[in-house]
Amino acid sequence: MMPNATDMRQQLVDACRRLDQLGFVPATDGNVSLRIGRDEVLITPTMAPKRLVQPSQLLVVGMDGRVRQGSGRPSSEMKMHLAAYWLRPDVGAVVHAHPPIATGFAAARLPLTDPLLPEAVATLGPVPLAEYATPSTDEVPRSIEKLVAVCNALLLANHGALAVGAGVAEAMDRMERVEHLAKVTLVARLLGGAAPLGAGDVARMLATLPRRGDGTGA
Ligand SMILES: [Zn+2]
Repeated sequence: MMPNATDMRQQLVDACRRLDQLGFVPATDGNVSLRIGRDEVLITPTMAPKRLVQPSQLLVVGMDGRVRQGSGRPSSEMKMHLAAYWLRPDVGAVVHAHPPIATGFAAARLPLTDPLLPEAVATLGPVPLAEYATPSTDEVPRSIEKLVAVCNALLLANHGALAVGAGVAEAMDRMERVEHLAKVTLVARLLGGAAPLGAGDVARMLATLPRRGDGTGA
């Protein structure tokens, strides 16, 4: 059942608080959105510290980017969020943040594509690196289009990370896993080099997972 409007606003505010607690959104960084209808999205306002954002401050925008409800301006990265919704009918929520270790990989222009952790392979898949694009411009949605069509999370060069999911919980889980994967990858490289899982290990692990669409999630 579709949650009501109040619940959906609270879900986004809770996600903002969590991103702040995790240290993923310094100052006014980061933005979160949720699809609330066939052609409408609820999104955080621009320049709002995520620890302070209130349910009433969230804006409803159409898939064309026009504000339909709320005062103030939507997130400066709204076009990136809308690109994900246009390209992926299965996506119900989008989270953009600047988690420090993952953003370090993005600044070093290193993707997180090696299969290092079974959980990350199963729930996240490879995390590729989108080409650098000036934040808040039309370059950003263009830079992610090819990757978000086939991936659930990606790094934005010299900028941060993006994660999508069926709902806010899944998109948030994926953002947390991106940062965890970045931390583990960094430590493994400091310890002399990460040892990726072999193709056979990955295939055997994926074969143990419930199939998508059978209601158990994967
Ligand atoms: Zn950003």
